[in-house]
Amino acid sequence: MDYNYLADLLYPNITTMPEDMEARYPKRDLPEGAKVTRIAPSPTGFMHLGNLFGAITDERLAHQSGGVFILRIEDTDAKREVEGGVETIINVFSRFGLSFDEGALIDGEFGNYGPYRQRERAEIYQTYAKQLIREGKAYPCFCTEEELAAIHAEQEACKADYGYYGKWAVWRDAPIEKIEEQLKNNVPFVLRFRSEGSIENKFKFTDLVKGDVEITENDKDHILLKSDGIPTYHFAHAVDDHLMRTTHVVRGEEWLATLPFHLQLFKALGFKIPKYCHTAQLMKIDNGNKRKLSKRKDPELALDFYHAGGYPVPCVIEYLMTLLNSNFEEWRIANPNSDIKDFKFSTNKMSVSGCLFDLDKLTDVSKNTISRMTAEEVYDYVYKWASEYDKDFADTLSSDKDYAIKILSIGRGGNKPRKDIAVWSDVKPYMSLFYDKYFEVIDEYPDNFDKADIKNTINEYIEVYDQNDSQDEWFNKIKAIAEKLGFAPETKLYKKNPEQYKGHVGDISMFLRIAVTGKMNSPDMFAVMQILGKDKVIQRLKAMADKI
Ligand code: GLU
Repeated sequence: MDYNYLADLLYPNITTMPEDMEARYPKRDLPEGAKVTRIAPSPTGFMHLGNLFGAITDERLAHQSGGVFILRIEDTDAKREVEGGVETIINVFSRFGLSFDEGALIDGEFGNYGPYRQRERAEIYQTYAKQLIREGKAYPCFCTEEELAAIHAEQEACKADYGYYGKWAVWRDAPIEKIEEQLKNNVPFVLRFRSEGSIENKFKFTDLVKGDVEITENDKDHILLKSDGIPTYHFAHAVDDHLMRTTHVVRGEEWLATLPFHLQLFKALGFKIPKYCHTAQLMKIDNGNKRKLSKRKDPELALDFYHAGGYPVPCVIEYLMTLLNSNFEEWRIANPNSDIKDFKFSTNKMSVSGCLFDLDKLTDVSKNTISRMTAEEVYDYVYKWASEYDKDFADTLSSDKDYAIKILSIGRGGNKPRKDIAVWSDVKPYMSLFYDKYFEVIDEYPDNFDKADIKNTINEYIEVYDQNDSQDEWFNKIKAIAEKLGFAPETKLYKKNPEQYKGHVGDISMFLRIAVTGKMNSPDMFAVMQILGKDKVIQRLKAMADKI
């Protein structure tokens, strides 16, 4: 067979040669050890934790080594693409604070190794495909869907491996006349790889995360270019990562199965094989069993979940880092105030098998982190979040920023800061008692108290309340009311002789607390009253007394 002739017959419009591409995308001039990584999501509109997991790894490997981090858009499967998919990818990564050195932008791209959208790279792929044909390493296949389905059915019947190989590879050695005839009749074709591999052969391969893995050679003649001349993932991966000069391919372990084919392709194309880091799946415990996070069952898999729910970005990153590198937590304890970027990320500290993702743990990390922020920091984050998700609340906050900061300062700054806030969406319910337009009495008085005692407590308190009281004076007044109404002024006394009292000072506080804050549990009531001011406190007390 004259392969040169075949190559021109199949891709007559391709006049470029691999050398042209090599010249167009020269080796990068980077310092020794600098890593070039890329994240290559498909614009399906759905961004998941796995994307972020990989992106953080890529970003750290590249940036801590003085390398390059690329955003490539894998849009070869037009059927899965949604409108605005690229925008979603870019926005999500930017929200999580990841910055690229080159790659796709919402409108256009930046960098010298583009195009960064695969569909715009058809000429590049076809240049290499044509070279493979010239070398007898690729051939056209004109099988229809029906013919492929028939092959599959036959393989099923005789329990053979599925796929296009061996005697099933009907076009592998087709004579040129037959190919010419199909082309004359405009029958569409795909371009297949001519595999020389055998499943009898195994070899060792070192993955930077998985360690040494045993690989079985690929014997299938997989598709390189589809009938529209657009590549499959496999071929695009080899060509792009070669020409973009990627040094480290970080991707999910689901790609491990096709690694034999990828290695074969790099070899056939004469490319240097990059280092691979196949990252473990994110798992969760469900009813005592470990399972993969699922798009259908687990809302926490979607990255939108964290933004809309108001998870602070640094907390999500911090938590993911604990899953990504086993020594991160230890480092964090030793360096509580260091920038996360000072941590030395390494692939050999990554989990080999599944990573357990626990939303409760993230919520905990988040609570702790927020409790250590200043009121001003919390304000800025919440205001930004609310501007997108709750405009009215954002306006309320900014209408009196000092007031909002006073509220957010309650219980902050000491050794044991309050931990009421885990996510930004918790802040409105937490602060609502301070704003008449959001205030409501949510909790009811427990049935075991006499309504008259509650009413009397409130009325007595209205008489004595003084905004200028110190915390001690304030509390002594509450104790005095307790005593007057037959409640123990101290819990201790009540515990000793409960039968002597109707209740204790804590109950009296609770009567007032529900009236003033609307809830059984609230931040420190003295602080709350100070911030609300006399008029509001008295007005709420009166409103409650009238209701009882
Ligand atoms: N588009 C592929 C994915 O999102 C990229 C895999 C890779 O990084 O090579 O899974």
